[in-house]
Amino acid sequence: MTPVLEIRGLTVDYGVGAESVRAVRAVDLTLNRGEVLGLAGESGSGKSTLAYAMLRLLSPPGVIRGGSVVYHPVDGGPVDVLTVSPAELRLLRWAEVAIVFQGAMNSLNPVHTVAAQLTDVIAAHEPGSTATGRRARARELLELVGITADRLDAYPHQLSGGMRQRVMIAMALALEPRVVIMDEPTTALDVVMQRQILAQLVALRERIGFSVLFITHDLSLLVEFSDRIAIMYGGRIVEAAPAATLYRDALHPYTAGLLGSFPALHGPRRELTGIPGSPPDLRAMPTGCAFHPRCPRAFDPCGVTSPALTAPSEGRSVACWLHEN
Ligand code: ATP
Ligand code: SF4
Ligand code: MG
Repeated sequence: MTPVLEIRGLTVDYGVGAESVRAVRAVDLTLNRGEVLGLAGESGSGKSTLAYAMLRLLSPPGVIRGGSVVYHPVDGGPVDVLTVSPAELRLLRWAEVAIVFQGAMNSLNPVHTVAAQLTDVIAAHEPGSTATGRRARARELLELVGITADRLDAYPHQLSGGMRQRVMIAMALALEPRVVIMDEPTTALDVVMQRQILAQLVALRERIGFSVLFITHDLSLLVEFSDRIAIMYGGRIVEAAPAATLYRDALHPYTAGLLGSFPALHGPRRELTGIPGSPPDLRAMPTGCAFHPRCPRAFDPCGVTSPALTAPSEGRSVACWLHEN
């Protein structure tokens, strides 16, 4: 596996001084070339903060406190996204790593048709193109994301939320990025739409060959569509493993709890149990393992010392005293 994005020790605070809270804590995460990596965790676990920070898109009071985000271009040497010049960063965000945010569908311009917005992006990316060529390319991009050409001249309000989100993906794909990062809305109502969009991205990945980081609170979706899954809790990655391995044999009690919170789409039925208690308050993080107040398997060291993220076997990592080697 060749890494395309390597996040190391990424730490993000909101605010400075005594009032600050740490939303992302020394996160290590690798996205490999051509893979779909899923990132899951309850609301407030730091998923969006991580996605914003890795492309330096955090708005105040968010501050990156440390770490590196190394991008490996197809040609040329690796670059640290956190330290490149603003000009290089613009180029990188534009041409190499596309990000489609939570609620991005609402950022379409309401007074321009889908075709006009897509052809604008294409014109910027392919300055030598003709108007006819751009329109043909816009049609092709829409078809790629499952929207028929008869919607080209529709205005955003004439499309469903799912379609608008797909138009945003088409706009991102117009730039032929190497990496697509998608941060999905968290409302349970959108799960059907999320499923369609993720299925489409996976199919496109096979045809076009980019890497995907897909963020959602819905683990069952990731089990179905991603190659690997990383689980976040209280700003940390607590477990990462190939999707099938994680589903079959979750090592972290929080992962097991999350798996028990969603109905399985395939395979043996699991009893839905959910996780008792609520996510930690960043202003008053529990000592030791942040999950210990909710953990059914907590024992002596858990409330005292935080377990490090270790690698119990090839391709897996977990931060839990039950699996400390
Ligand atoms: P969701 O699933 O709801 O999208 P998330 O995992 O994406 O959640 P984040 O939005 O990254 O979580 O938030 C992580 C933590 O940072 C939360 O506790 C949140 O309250 C806090 N946070 C986010 N934005 C700010 C802000 N502007 N100021 C202060 N705290 C913030
Ligand atoms: Fe539970 Fe302890 Fe593992 Fe934390 S370290 S998940 S409290 S067993
Ligand atoms: Mg979020």
